Amino acid sequence: MTPTLTAASDIAAARLERIKPILACPTCRGDLTYATDAAMCAACDLQFPIRNGRIYFVDVPERSDELDRVKGFFKRLLGRYYHAIGINIVAPVYPFGYLRRVRRHLDPARQIVVDLGCGSHRIDDHMIGADIFDYDAVDVVCDLAALPFRSSGLDALVSVSVLEHVRDPKVVIAECKRCAKPGGLSMHLIPFLYPFHASPFDFHRYTHKGQEVLLDGWETVEQSNAAGPVTLMLICLIEFLSILLSFGHQKLKALINLMLCGLLFPIKFLDFPFVDRKSFMTLAPTIFIVGRKPAVRGPTP
Ligand SMILES: [Zn+2]
Repeated sequence: MTPTLTAASDIAAARLERIKPILACPTCRGDLTYATDAAMCAACDLQFPIRNGRIYFVDVPERSDELDRVKGFFKRLLGRYYHAIGINIVAPVYPFGYLRRVRRHLDPARQIVVDLGCGSHRIDDHMIGADIFDYDAVDVVCDLAALPFRSSGLDALVSVSVLEHVRDPKVVIAECKRCAKPGGLSMHLIPFLYPFHASPFDFHRYTHKGQEVLLDGWETVEQSNAAGPVTLMLICLIEFLSILLSFGHQKLKALINLMLCGLLFPIKFLDFPFVDRKSFMTLAPTIFIVGRKPAVRGPTP
């Protein structure tokens, strides 16, 4: 075993031990007890398997869409490099420094931060990955609408291009509010002007005002466009050409889309002067918001 692998598995084991005290049954929110291969709910008798250092609170669903299947294939093939190559370089969207933004408000090594819908990418070794699919970066396999965490147990919950894919983002935000400590944070990057992209589903878009309504009851700490007008034109061009050249064939469309991304991606870097500017939120492919859960004042009712 190489020292690198030992270090990685040690960090994974430490992460699991660190979150055990704040996990709870997603069905009844009862306390969990642990064996080496399962977590058990003392209250409702449910058992949640532990395999390869991750806890399965739900069964992993089947993948359902061509582009999603192609992306899923590359995610498994490239593992942690999928994000480095696929998202940071080849994707047609300006690379927003998400980790830098998170660290502006939080220290994941000292605070408990959950990355909702993390996929195959671990933003930070100390962050807890939660997803419905069991990618390498996932510690907790769960439904984002029924989080397996104790109430007021987390310092922050973050998500990157995830809330458009859940059936009811309000329910997920309500879960964030339940799980966040008073004064805890909720940070989300959500598309506004963006073509349909299934992963595995795509349901929602939010304007900057819509985000504030979604995070109703949270104090808005920060909000800005995470990609700009160059990205917007590039993603629309790629989607337009993929539709035009694929003649309604979904698999072909997914392949043409990936090919065009590979050819045209360098254009996205021209977005540099237009990103993180409030005036461009009205023309933003994606918007980043940081909300703070109000701290409790006076005696709890
Ligand atoms: Zn239970």
